[in-house]
Amino acid sequence: MPAYILNKHPQRNGEHWIHNSDKDCVNLPHPGNAIDLGVHPNGYGAVVHARARWPMARINGCSFCSKECHAAETSWDLEYRPC
Ligand SMILES: [Zn+2]
Repeated sequence: MPAYILNKHPQRNGEHWIHNSDKDCVNLPHPGNAIDLGVHPNGYGAVVHARARWPMARINGCSFCSKECHAAETSWDLEYRPC
């Protein structure tokens, strides 16, 4: 299972993105800004985990390495299907 990380630094729209550290993502944060989320079967699991841990933060999947759990801003309120 891949390991996921959360970027402490938000994107310009205020979202904190989750990355799959097994993929060579162009958006990977500097190691000092990465929070280890542990291994998850897929990006949905990582997003659910991170949202439970930081309920006040806007957390989204990276649009490059974690497309399956990247919600467009227009569909932000859509519920993620459980993994
Ligand atoms: Zn990424």
